[in-house]
Amino acid sequence: MNAAPLTRLPPGSTIGILGGGQLGRMLAIAAAQMGLKCHIYAPEVDNPAYEVAAKHTVAPYHDAQALSAFAAQVDVITYEFENIPVETVDMLAQLRPVFPDRLALATSQDRLAEKAFFNAAGIATAPFADVEDAGALMRAVAQIGRPAILKTRRFGYDGKGQVVVRESADLAVIYRSIGAHPCILEGIVRFSREISVIAARGLDGQFAAYDVAENQHANHILSKTLVPAHVTSETAKKAIEIAQTVARELNYVGVFAVEMFVVPDAAGVEHLIVNEMAPRVHNSGHWTLDGAVTSQFEQHIRAICGWPLGSVRRHGHIEMQNLIGHDTDRWLDILAEGHASLRLYGKSVAKAGRKMGHVTRVFPKS
Ligand code: AMP
Repeated sequence: MNAAPLTRLPPGSTIGILGGGQLGRMLAIAAAQMGLKCHIYAPEVDNPAYEVAAKHTVAPYHDAQALSAFAAQVDVITYEFENIPVETVDMLAQLRPVFPDRLALATSQDRLAEKAFFNAAGIATAPFADVEDAGALMRAVAQIGRPAILKTRRFGYDGKGQVVVRESADLAVIYRSIGAHPCILEGIVRFSREISVIAARGLDGQFAAYDVAENQHANHILSKTLVPAHVTSETAKKAIEIAQTVARELNYVGVFAVEMFVVPDAAGVEHLIVNEMAPRVHNSGHWTLDGAVTSQFEQHIRAICGWPLGSVRRHGHIEMQNLIGHDTDRWLDILAEGHASLRLYGKSVAKAGRKMGHVTRVFPKS
């Protein structure tokens, strides 16, 4: 049995959010601004989203009793984190509508399923091979060549669960170093830039994509996002078409991100290789809070409530910088800048590599 289909929720409704990090926090703030309440469900005792949400439940994702009590108190359910167990979403979906649905979640949780999905939809990815044990890694290396990247199929983020397989590497040692988990081996893509498309699809199939963002990483963590990306208008158009195909094929509802590599050929023509998707609001879309008519957070809430999508129009040239670890010590200097909007996530301890906030600089179009 599935929950009754959602039509359109009225203001005053309650949104259930699985996960309580900064994404949940910014979703809850956006919801509150539109007269909606949020109820956060997460296993951690302390979380950035709790202090801005109407309610929260602290319980494991496998606690059937806590999940049904949570579902009984909300009108629609979403998530801000793609490592929610699919079984949790399956259970909740019998009680309340869940957006994005299990297909989007299951596809993006498993790099093998995700790459197979992209290729079946006619979307190019890096060459890849399934690696289920050390023997399969030998065969995969013979097929893909070296250097290549070994990635765990599940639970990888910010470069975790990845290792480069170089010419000299001992394959058995490499496979053990990644925990002997099921993996994929990916060919290295010689890209000139990394870009992402943040887009939304409404309950009625309406589609809207923000301008393409260009992403710079440091230590495998997003450092900076520039909008618009430095790509040709043809490439930007193709990137958005890819996102539209993903949304359509998944019958997606909500905001999502598709990360891509730009690969110029010898003639300078740009080709796009898709790396991965995230079935949620995304760090490379944080600029929309201050740099677009409708933020990605508001857009997601609109989509999952069955509301019309908002305008994705950009206010100017944008630079979003993540504030990682002790970067937030510069908060006073940032506040003193003319074009800067400072967003802090309320995390009490600044650890190396921890996303503590971000700053968006909007340079108005002249
Ligand atoms: P991922 O966890 O798949 O998002 O990868 C993290 C980062 O590693 C990407 O943003 C790229 O900078 C780099 N990367 C991942 N896959 C590849 C690849 N096949 N070729 C080259 N660089 C890659």
